[in-house]
Amino acid sequence: MTWTRNVLRVNLTSRTCRKEPLNMEWAKLYLGQRGLATKYLAEEIDPKVDALSSDNKLIMATGPLTGTPASTGGRYSVITKSPLTGTVACSNSGGFIGAEMKFAGWDMIIFEGKASSPVYLYLENESAEILPADDLWGKTVWETDETLHNMHQDPLLRIATIGRPAEQGCLFAGIINDLHRAAGRSGVGTVMASKNLKAVAVRGTRGISNIKDPAAFMRAVKTGKEILAEGPVTGEGLPTYGTQVLMNVINEVGAMPTRNMREVQFEGAEKISGEAMHEPRESDGKPNLVTNAGCFSCTIACGRISTISKGHFTIENKPQYRGASGGLEYESAWALGSDTGVDDLDTLTYINFLCNEDGIDPITLGSTIAAAMEMFEKGIITLEDTGGVELNFGSSEALTQIAEMTMKGEGFGREIGLGSKRLCEKYGHPEFSMTVKGQEFPAYDPRGIQGMGLGYATSNRGACHLRAYTVASEVLAIPEKTDPLATDGKAALVIAFQDSAAAVDSSGLCAFSTFTWTLSDIAPQIAAACDGDWTEEKLMETGERIWNLERKFNMEAGITAEDDTLPQRLLKDAAKTGPAKGKVNHLDKMLPEYYQLRGWAADGTPTEKKLSGLSI
Ligand code: SF4
Repeated sequence: MTWTRNVLRVNLTSRTCRKEPLNMEWAKLYLGQRGLATKYLAEEIDPKVDALSSDNKLIMATGPLTGTPASTGGRYSVITKSPLTGTVACSNSGGFIGAEMKFAGWDMIIFEGKASSPVYLYLENESAEILPADDLWGKTVWETDETLHNMHQDPLLRIATIGRPAEQGCLFAGIINDLHRAAGRSGVGTVMASKNLKAVAVRGTRGISNIKDPAAFMRAVKTGKEILAEGPVTGEGLPTYGTQVLMNVINEVGAMPTRNMREVQFEGAEKISGEAMHEPRESDGKPNLVTNAGCFSCTIACGRISTISKGHFTIENKPQYRGASGGLEYESAWALGSDTGVDDLDTLTYINFLCNEDGIDPITLGSTIAAAMEMFEKGIITLEDTGGVELNFGSSEALTQIAEMTMKGEGFGREIGLGSKRLCEKYGHPEFSMTVKGQEFPAYDPRGIQGMGLGYATSNRGACHLRAYTVASEVLAIPEKTDPLATDGKAALVIAFQDSAAAVDSSGLCAFSTFTWTLSDIAPQIAAACDGDWTEEKLMETGERIWNLERKFNMEAGITAEDDTLPQRLLKDAAKTGPAKGKVNHLDKMLPEYYQLRGWAADGTPTEKKLSGLSI
């Protein structure tokens, strides 16, 4: 085992909860979490369904190693159809709620239908209740968390909740658990809001008692932890600097998306880097970073806990921001910082707090504001549109005002809440939206890291770094170095990363463990814990199966090979500075080989032979 073998099915329309057995045939094929929940979703909904209709479903799913002592084994995912992209969505989060679900005895919770008024799910071991949440609707994540803890008088309750933007229809709202851990991307929080589901509160006291071979498992876990501790990134870089360890590195290789991806290097990168978070501030002599923090069972502890300078304009009248809270990750620092041209660490920390407090994806927020800034600069968007905000690149004040308006769903903030694709289309300039399949790019410009371009274009949830993190090889030499500016061999590299990431995302472990671990380190842990023969090869096959299933779902939803592309800016406008100077992304050289190596038809469709060979 370590599946609990229990699924909780929650029908919000009829307000009923039902326990059913986990489909173990599927578990053996799809492992858990991302893979297994995608199988349930694909079997249970029409891929063409309106993502915000009651016919869509929302699945919270753990992996078999979630809640075990394996390092980083605290992950859970939210799987649904995305309202932002129209693709399958899987958003992964850490913290503690995933482990709590397992301790309560559940592998998965499937939400279906729609409640007639706001509700929340209260889960205490076997007992599941759908309770009224009228008084919680309109509250932020932090207010909801505090209210539920007070109501239930249980400090150990683990809570995942949406904030106000999800309720107001912001298409990139996430679900925040444990105050600052996020299932952040693709609008999974917006789907939750569309079901009138405000929060899920979980308390589990049963622990994990069904490891297949406990002694072998603990040996594999111990070895795994030692390997992580010895790895330079997981043993030192991430604990010290968090993912922000990447800011200066990526800027130097000329892959730092800057000012709506017009440039590839940001002159202010150092000021907003992980190193800068350690330095004493001029204002009060204290550093931005208070401490690092870890999710359940994690020995890496990449999380940041930060403060904002006393007296900074963003928090003058806001007592809730004067303490410490979840600090900047590289993705939020980049999207809110270099992409908008803002290099003020306090401002970025404040907006990161806002994203946690109200539950939205900082990548899409920053990128959408950057697109709006470019249109403002060109006179396409005017002061009349922005409600008087001078939306200039580099303006901390403008960034702050627009971010606050987005959280409240006020004025121009409501338009930002639609994401950059819809915003730019509305103003007649879709070319300024830096998206794939409607989802904004993460922090690696594919002109400077060619493989990432192919990874973005073929990603099953729109632009995403977590679906195929070839940066590991192309920049960090993990597991071995490839040339970031070359295209040869990148199709195979992207496929290997896509399939292995799909397996890791289905296990309950954190993607960041793979800065050091390979599947040869992970397989013995899964094999000792779970029924079945979980070798490295079997995990790769499982990843390939998951990838093809997601692709099939998307194609049935109406996504085609024409959507496997990048914005013209990245294909036509050469990088102006850095090692990639003069380069565009050469997707055309990589994509046909990718389809061929995948065993798909030349138009990118998975063949019947491929699908049946994978038992899909
Ligand atoms: S590496 Fe970071 S994100 Fe991953 S489980 Fe550990 S603390 Fe959480």
